[in-house]
Amino acid sequence: MKKCEYCAKEISYHEMYCDEDCQRKANAYYDLKEKFSKLFMIVNGICVLSIGIFIFAFSFFPELGLYGASGALIILGLMYFFLPFPPEIMINKYKIEKSLKICRIIAIVLFVIGVELLTTAIIVY
Ligand SMILES: [Zn+2]
Repeated sequence: MKKCEYCAKEISYHEMYCDEDCQRKANAYYDLKEKFSKLFMIVNGICVLSIGIFIFAFSFFPELGLYGASGALIILGLMYFFLPFPPEIMINKYKIEKSLKICRIIAIVLFVIGVELLTTAIIVY
């Protein structure tokens, strides 16, 4: 069975979306992605790279490592929440609506870990 590109409900073969609402939401998602995907890729690259560097730095400069990693995690969490752009492979599998949900859950988890680390850094240093 073919599925709605947005909500993954079953639809007939000549359709792409189950109703206008899903089509409108899908278009809104693609518009947002078109506008911000460059910014997303740049911030994503910088954050992921700096988390790696800060984790490495942790053994030599624990304070810098902890503050840096928590900052990068918080920025990443906020971005994944407000600009959730799941990878294409995920959208193919789960369709847009569910992929956005998964992306936002990951965002919240990253944000919470970031805040926890920051709190730890503040208490310890
Ligand atoms: Zn739908």
